[in-house]
Amino acid sequence: MMNSMPPSSDRAREVLHSVFGYDAFRHTQGDIVEHLIQGNDALVLMPTGGGKSLCYQIPSLVRDGTGIVVSPLIALMQDQVDALRQNGVKAAFLNSSLSAEEARAIEAQLQRGELDLLYVAPERLMLSRTLDLLERVHIALFAIDEAHCVSQWGHDFRPEYIQLSILHERFPDVPRIALTATADAPTRREIIQRLALEEARQFVSSFDRPNIRYAISENHGNARDRLLRFIRDEHPNDAGIVYCLSRKRVDEIAAWLTKQGLNALPYHAGLTAEARREHQERFLREEGVIIVATIAFGMGIDKPDVRFVAHLNLPKSLEAYYQETGRAGRDGLPSNAWMVYGLQDVITLRQMQEGSEAGEEFKRVERHKLDAMLGFCELTSCRRQALLRYFGETLEQPCGNCDNCLSPPETWDATVAAQKALSCVHRTGQRFGVNYLIDVLLARENARIQQFGHDQISTYGIGTELNQAQWRDLYRQLIARGLLAVDVEGHGGLRLTEEARPVLRGDTKLMLRKLSRASATRQGKREKASRYTDRPESRLWEALRKRRQELADEQGVPPYMIFHDATLMEFIENRPETLSQMSQISGVGDRKLDAYGEAFLDVLHEYAGLDNEDANPVDSADETLRLFQSGMDIDAIATERGVKATTVYGHLAEAIEHGLLQLSDVVKLDEKTLEGIRFVFDQHEGGKRLKPIYDALEGKYSYEILRCIRAALGETR
Ligand code: ADP
Ligand code: ZN
Repeated sequence: MMNSMPPSSDRAREVLHSVFGYDAFRHTQGDIVEHLIQGNDALVLMPTGGGKSLCYQIPSLVRDGTGIVVSPLIALMQDQVDALRQNGVKAAFLNSSLSAEEARAIEAQLQRGELDLLYVAPERLMLSRTLDLLERVHIALFAIDEAHCVSQWGHDFRPEYIQLSILHERFPDVPRIALTATADAPTRREIIQRLALEEARQFVSSFDRPNIRYAISENHGNARDRLLRFIRDEHPNDAGIVYCLSRKRVDEIAAWLTKQGLNALPYHAGLTAEARREHQERFLREEGVIIVATIAFGMGIDKPDVRFVAHLNLPKSLEAYYQETGRAGRDGLPSNAWMVYGLQDVITLRQMQEGSEAGEEFKRVERHKLDAMLGFCELTSCRRQALLRYFGETLEQPCGNCDNCLSPPETWDATVAAQKALSCVHRTGQRFGVNYLIDVLLARENARIQQFGHDQISTYGIGTELNQAQWRDLYRQLIARGLLAVDVEGHGGLRLTEEARPVLRGDTKLMLRKLSRASATRQGKREKASRYTDRPESRLWEALRKRRQELADEQGVPPYMIFHDATLMEFIENRPETLSQMSQISGVGDRKLDAYGEAFLDVLHEYAGLDNEDANPVDSADETLRLFQSGMDIDAIATERGVKATTVYGHLAEAIEHGLLQLSDVVKLDEKTLEGIRFVFDQHEGGKRLKPIYDALEGKYSYEILRCIRAALGETR
C-alpha cells in the first residue's frame, strides 16, 4: 500500500521534474496532485493556461494503474497524446476517429497494463462494453475535463456528461477529479450535483491572467491600418487570432493582411470543412500564422503560444471577451489582448439586443451583460481590476499591465457638452441618428434640417466647440453608458433614457475619457509585450525556432510540442553548454533531453559569441559553404567546425535553396530515384511535413537528404 513508499509529494515532484522538466508546481497544483494521490476527489476551477492537465497527469503516473481522462474535445485528444508521448509518457486515446482494429489494439494495451493515461470520449466511455473492460483493469483515477459540459445552461452542454455520475457508483474507490475554466457559481453547483462530487474538495484559483495585457481603443474608421501597425510593431512573426463579426469581414481582412505580406488565413463557417481543417492545421503546425476568424474559431484550440488576440468588433459580453482573449498566452509568456471599437459597434449591439425576439427576462440579462461590456470599454481605471470584479474577485492594486494603467487616459468634464448632445436629441423629437444630430449641433448644410425646421431650435449650432469626431465620441460614450437608447427599427434613431435626466438637470457631473487623438499616438510608444523580437539575440532566437520547426516537421507534430517558446528563451538566457546544464532548464524532461538536447546544443554552440547586432547570421552558413566548395566532405566539415552533420546539411540545403549549389553537388542519387522521391513530395503537399515522406520512403533517405531535395524543389516555406 501507499504507506510503505516514499512520501507521495516527493514522488510527484520527481515526476514533475524528470518527465515534464519543471522545477516547481504552480499555486494549487501541488495540493491538488497530493490530494488525488491520496485517493480523494477534487473539483478544480482554474483559468485557461493555469495548468490543469498536470493535476491529473502526475497522479496518474504516480498511482498504480491507468488514468482515464474523459474529454469532449475529440480533436484535441490526438494533440494531448502526442504531447505526452514527447515526454515519454505512455498515452493513448479511444474515440470515434479510430478504426475498430485500432481501438481493439488500444484496449489490449490497456488490459496489459501498458498505459499511463487513456483519453476517452464520453459516449465511448458510457458503452457497457467499455465500462466492463474498465472493471477488469487497474484504474489510477478518473479525470473529467471540461466539466462545465454537464451544465444544461451553458453553451457547451453535452448530454453524455450527465451520465458520468455512473463512474462514482460503479467505481466507488477510484478517485475522481473534475476540471473546468468556467468560473461562475451556478455552473459550479451544477457540476457538483450532477457528478455527485459533494464530498470533493474544491480548489479555486484566481482567474486573473497576469501575462495578458488588455488594451481597448476607439475606432475612427481606420481599424484595419491600426491592426496592421499593431501586428508589425508588436508581433512580427508571432501567431495570433483576429476576431471579426461577419464572414465577409473575415475574408476581407485576411486577404488584406496577406497582401501586406503577413501569413494570414481566414476561418469561418462559410468555408469548406476541408479548408477550415487545413487552416487550423497550419495555425497549429507552422510558426507565426495569423487566423482571421469569426468567434466560431477557438474552442478546442490548445495552442500555447498564441501571442495576441485582436478584436475588430466588440464581443457581446465580458464573459465572451474573457474567453476569447484568454486564448492568448496559455504558456504564461507576455501576450496582448487588443481591441478597437467604435460608435457603430455600440449601435449595432444595442440594436441587436433591443430587437431580439427573446423573452423579457432573457433580454434583461442580455442588456445587463452588454452594459457591463460597454462600461468596460469606456473605463478610465484599471481594466483587470474591473474584469476580475465582474467575476467576483478582488484585485487590490491596479495591475500595471493594461492600457489604462500604462498610460492613464485623461478625463474631462463633459457635463455641458453632454447636456447639449442630449437636449439636441430631445428637441429634434427623439428619432434621429448621430450624424443628423451632429449636423444640427454644428449648424451644417443639410436640406433635411431646414425641411424639419430644426434650424429654428435652440440647439442649432450650439456645438462648435467640438468637431464632428469629438461629438461622435461623446455620443458613443452616452450610448455605451445607457443615457441614450437606440431605436428598435434599426435606423439608428436615438432616444433619452431615465439615466439621462440627472445629467440634463445638472444634478450629476459627467467625467468622460478624453477624446481620442492623443490615445492613438500614445499607443505606438508603449513598451512592447514581446520580449525578444527586436533584441540582438533575435538571430539565435530565429535559429532555435528554425531547428524546432525542422524537428517538428520530422515528427509530424506542432513546433511547441518539441519545446515551448519559454524553454527556447531560457536557452538564450542561460546558454547551456552541456546536456546536464540543459536538463536544468524548465520544460526539458528526460525524454526530450535525450531526443532533442544535442540538436539544440548544436545551434547554441554555433551561435556562441554571435549575439551582438554586428555578427552576421549567415557567416556560419557561408563558412560551411566555403569548406564544402573547397572539397571537404560533410563529416570533415562537421568536425572542423565543431557542429553536427545535421547542421552542415542544413547550411547546404540553404545554399541549394538560394541557388548557390546544385542538388547534385550534395546528394548523389540517380535521376530515376530522384524522380521517384519528387513524386512522393508531390503527393504530400511538396513536403510541408517531412515525416510522411520519410515514412512513405520507408526511412531509406535521411531527413537531411530529404531537406536538401525539398530545397531544390523551391517549395520550402
Ligand atoms: P490548462 O489546461 O489549464 O489551460 P495546461 O495544462 O495546458 O493549462 O497548461 C498550460 C501551460 O502551462 C502548459 O504549456 C504547461 O506545460 C505549462 N505548465 C503547467 N504547469 C506548469 C508548471 N508547474 N511549471 C511550468 N509550466 C507549467
Ligand atoms: Zn491595469
